[in-house]
Amino acid sequence: MDYIALGLICEELEAVDSTLRVVMSVHMGLNSLGLLQWGTEEQKQRFLIPQGRGEKVGCFGLTEAGAGSDVAAILSTARRQGSEYLLNGEKMWISLATKAHHCLWVARTNPQAADPHDGLSAFLVEMDRPGITAGDLHGKLGMRAGSTGWIAAQDVRIPEENRIGEEGEGFKIAMSCLDNGRYTVAAGATGLIRACLEASVRYAHERNAFGREIGKFQLVQQKISTMVQSYDAARLLYLRAGWMKNQGTRNTRETSLAKWFATDASFQAASEAVQIHGAYGYSDEYDVERYLRNSKGAVIYEGTSEIHQLMQAGYALGYREDASLRCELPAYEPEAWQS
Ligand SMILES: Cc1cc2nc3c(=O)[nH]c(=O)nc-3n(C[C@H](O)[C@H](O)[C@H](O)COP(=O)(O)OP(=O)(O)OC[C@H]3O[C@@H](n4cnc5c(N)ncnc54)[C@H](O)[C@@H]3O)c2cc1C
Repeated sequence: MDYIALGLICEELEAVDSTLRVVMSVHMGLNSLGLLQWGTEEQKQRFLIPQGRGEKVGCFGLTEAGAGSDVAAILSTARRQGSEYLLNGEKMWISLATKAHHCLWVARTNPQAADPHDGLSAFLVEMDRPGITAGDLHGKLGMRAGSTGWIAAQDVRIPEENRIGEEGEGFKIAMSCLDNGRYTVAAGATGLIRACLEASVRYAHERNAFGREIGKFQLVQQKISTMVQSYDAARLLYLRAGWMKNQGTRNTRETSLAKWFATDASFQAASEAVQIHGAYGYSDEYDVERYLRNSKGAVIYEGTSEIHQLMQAGYALGYREDASLRCELPAYEPEAWQS
């Protein structure tokens, strides 16, 4: 299937459950498409093919306790020792940490690099390697059905064949993985807006106040019309990004815009959906309270809204250009993908 199909699947999944969509975002968006773009033939055979068959699951390890938006602050290290690397450090807030078979781990290989971004490299780290431990984080606001956790590495031996791309390409690889992950988040958040809209329309017909159904009140209509507007706009933004991906065209700006808009709009839509449901919306009797809790996560992960605002301003003002991250994008090729 192509990128548009991936988006539509994510939209449909999140219209029902955000956690299921997160599995697609992490396993497909951040990990598998990264492997498709950057993996060697041998890595594709070893990791990507079983992932495509659904036999193995991949996760994405970028964030650390002190490095979220600021990727250059990554402290985990992969020190070269002959044909191996010795991996040490800890990843935090990793989706599927305790479920995945391997982690696409971004670590520092050159602490002396003048620009810290250039000192990062990416590795495929099997979760059953000696020295790897992982656990789930508890007490999350939303996404409670899913695993979000930590992964620690203590003197873990990683063969050179598990490095993706060249040494020093870790930042570029991570950012291109995010281009795909963010696309799936944008599509998913669009599905969440639709779920809020459908729940709100249903309830606006059911609930009566002052002798009429609440859908007749213009202030309720205003909330519903904003959801309609957000849904169509979010959908068109992610479909544009998906179309560009199919062509193999650089889409960092368009994907960032789609992700920022859809996630902010889904949080807003969920908040208004709770409002339309009144006190019942404030309880778990209706799904909208779950929509509200889940929608907040997407405003934070895969680039906070603030980071996307900075990116968009950077493009508009001419401070940002993607040439420094130039890379071959995996355009949709039906025959190659099917084989
Ligand atoms: C449910 C969930 C799942 C996740 N899954 C993964 C995963 O699978 N893999 C992974 O690697 N990570 C994952 N993350 C981590 C996520 O990507 C980070 O939380 C996110 O990048 C933000 O980093 P941070 O939490 O450290 O916040 P910080 O970077 O510390 O930011 C804190 C606040 O400061 C603001 N801020 C930071 N820098 C700037 C700036 N320059 N200008 C303006 N404001 C700024 C931010 O926008 C934010 O509001 C997940 C997080 C969550 C909540």
